[in-house]
Amino acid sequence: MKLALLIAAVDPTVGGVLVFGDRGTGKSTAVRALASLLPLMQAVADCRYGCDPGEERAWCEECQGRAVGGKLKSVALRVPVVDLPLGVTEDRVVGALDLERALTKGEKAFEPGLLARAHRGFLYIDEVNLLEDHIVDLLLDVAASGENVVEREGLSVRHPARFVLIGSGNPEEGELRPQLLDRFGLSVEVRTPSDLPTRIDVVRRRDAFERDPGGFLAKWAKEDTRIRRRIVAARALLPTVEVPDLVLDRAAQLCLKLGTDGLRGELTLMRAARALASLEGVEAANETHLRRVAAPALRHRLRRNPLDEAVSTTRVDRAVAELLGA
Ligand SMILES: [Zn+2]
Repeated sequence: MKLALLIAAVDPTVGGVLVFGDRGTGKSTAVRALASLLPLMQAVADCRYGCDPGEERAWCEECQGRAVGGKLKSVALRVPVVDLPLGVTEDRVVGALDLERALTKGEKAFEPGLLARAHRGFLYIDEVNLLEDHIVDLLLDVAASGENVVEREGLSVRHPARFVLIGSGNPEEGELRPQLLDRFGLSVEVRTPSDLPTRIDVVRRRDAFERDPGGFLAKWAKEDTRIRRRIVAARALLPTVEVPDLVLDRAAQLCLKLGTDGLRGELTLMRAARALASLEGVEAANETHLRRVAAPALRHRLRRNPLDEAVSTTRVDRAVAELLGA
């Protein structure tokens, strides 16, 4: 899960991360922890969408309008992690007409929703398999396009909404439709650790944090800094990292062998391998990178038993072994 999150943090175009697994295994803690150790982001001051001052082409209409009058000020903000609760309405997600302003001032104004708040950060859905299908569809559409378009109630608003979608769920409590599974970039399984030393270690650390949060954070600050530097360096390197023809050829063969529908499998393999190469500070992705991202990139795209993780993972592993050698 940590590797999948790091890959998504380096290259959000990899697509969201789907986390299957038991409750109480630290899934949401991991998402929050990653966001909090990312460097602060520069955002246009007073922008409701947190536009990136350095990326003028992606600005919202409001920033574009204000920029005509002179240079916009910027502020440093934390990378947002937005929780999407079950039973959430479409209005709350995409934004809606600001009723108060409409009623008191007779103005048609847009009240941004959760997608606006998640821009440039993470949108986290616990129990994604219990979320209504039309909301999941909507989220995946916006995550893919990077833009939220609202055309209703006399409103016509579009604003940037680029975020990493993280969905977690327990497959035993409700299935995800195969066409939705396929649209998540990576999928990982988190199991309750079954070895004694790991369990004890987790409990000890949790306890240490609760008893002395400051001391705990100080103890791990160095490690956090190391990861932060690694992400920053990887993001800077990513645009120049190559994926050689041979690696892409292997990726396509792997997908052919496993019979994945469409070409999202190859695309994800290529992007994830490239992000992993960047994290390792090398200039080209190789077969080892491909091997490491194969299971998370492909196991949820297999036609049969998409949710039987063990079977799917075994199938991917076998195909990787046959193609790339064990
Ligand atoms: Zn803006």
